[in-house]
Amino acid sequence: MASLLGTAGFKGIQKPEQAEILIVNTCGFIKPARDESIEELQKLAKKKKKGQILIAAGCLTQRYRELIATQVPGIDGIIGTKRWMDIIDLIQELRKEPNIPKYNIPETATIGSDEHGVLRAAIQGSNAYLKIADGCRRSCSYCAIPVIKGTQVSRPEETILAETQILAQKGIKEVILIAQDTTDYGSDLGKKDGLANLLERMVIQTPQIPWYRILYAYPGVVTNRLIDVMAKYDQILPYLDIPLQHADPIILKKMKRPSNIENVVTMVEKLRTAMPDFAIRTTFIVGFPGETEKEFNTLLNFIKEIKFDHIGAFTYFQEVGTSAFDLGDPVSEEEKTNRLERLMTIQQEISLKKNQTFIGKSIPVIIEGYNDGISVGRSYRDAPEIDGMVFIEDKLEIGEIFPIKITDAFVHDLVGIPSR
Ligand code: SF4
Repeated sequence: MASLLGTAGFKGIQKPEQAEILIVNTCGFIKPARDESIEELQKLAKKKKKGQILIAAGCLTQRYRELIATQVPGIDGIIGTKRWMDIIDLIQELRKEPNIPKYNIPETATIGSDEHGVLRAAIQGSNAYLKIADGCRRSCSYCAIPVIKGTQVSRPEETILAETQILAQKGIKEVILIAQDTTDYGSDLGKKDGLANLLERMVIQTPQIPWYRILYAYPGVVTNRLIDVMAKYDQILPYLDIPLQHADPIILKKMKRPSNIENVVTMVEKLRTAMPDFAIRTTFIVGFPGETEKEFNTLLNFIKEIKFDHIGAFTYFQEVGTSAFDLGDPVSEEEKTNRLERLMTIQQEISLKKNQTFIGKSIPVIIEGYNDGISVGRSYRDAPEIDGMVFIEDKLEIGEIFPIKITDAFVHDLVGIPSR
């Protein structure tokens, strides 16, 4: 949308009160996210000035359009996730007839076929998130995303390759591949090993991008071919974000996720054997229905055994419209928080020890900022915003990658000096 708006002559500004068009990109994944989206819309609607247009976009609009229309008096337009590319038309219609709200929510998926030639990348400084598919064909029992987004639709390989070239021309240093399930890329196009083949073509055709990173892999489908491709090309970072959600087979079955945990252990071994210092990030849900101390301890023991580089953990949220809804929400919020804290305490010790093994080593770091004599960057082990940072006492060029010798380590972050 930002890309389309820019091409149509709109400019982004910092203060909402000065904008003609206010667009809130909402989230409808779980209730706290819904509440936050509605609150933001209500705040803007209350302060809306004459001539201002307020539009709700994103997942919440696709799923709960009536809720928005009733809870946000003064909303002018609602645009679903499947026709975001109609944003300019919607604005023009609203400008023509300012007092008639327009809700534009068709159900047909248009990704891959009707994207108005828009670059599907969110650029942030020197990195860009590149969308390779949208929707999900899995059926995890706690997750509403397939309800909101529909089944997976992969974008054509040629389009993604052309966009990678454009990103290289823009000087992007890190391309981060995203989808609801990146490892399923191409399955709907009848492709086998779609992600591995796509990545290989990207690296061969656009070798000038030094870093390619994969987020949101699905356990059980990190194939040998994908591991081989990752190991073969230096540009593909030895990093994988693979949300596992739990480690107890009974809970995993209830979550309708791959429950053979031995396969996960084997996959981690293969990745670590193929690529030394391979970094793994994962996510866990605590307090899922049926999780007692026994199942929770299985999870803790698994974390101690695997020693992940980064863990994101969340308490279970019972979500309307998911198949786990009927299981109820028997674990108390207090107990969920207690388990979350216990899990994170164990992980903090692991993270610190892992980080300390890098002291004295030199690792590539992409510089993202500078303040007061300190440059701030990320190593290959850190995805933007979710993992750690590297602090360097030197003024280094923003957007460039430098070898940094690590001199100190904390739970999340590292400290270093440029390797001369
Ligand atoms: S793979 Fe991810 S997006 Fe798809 S259903 Fe499971 S949790 Fe949701």
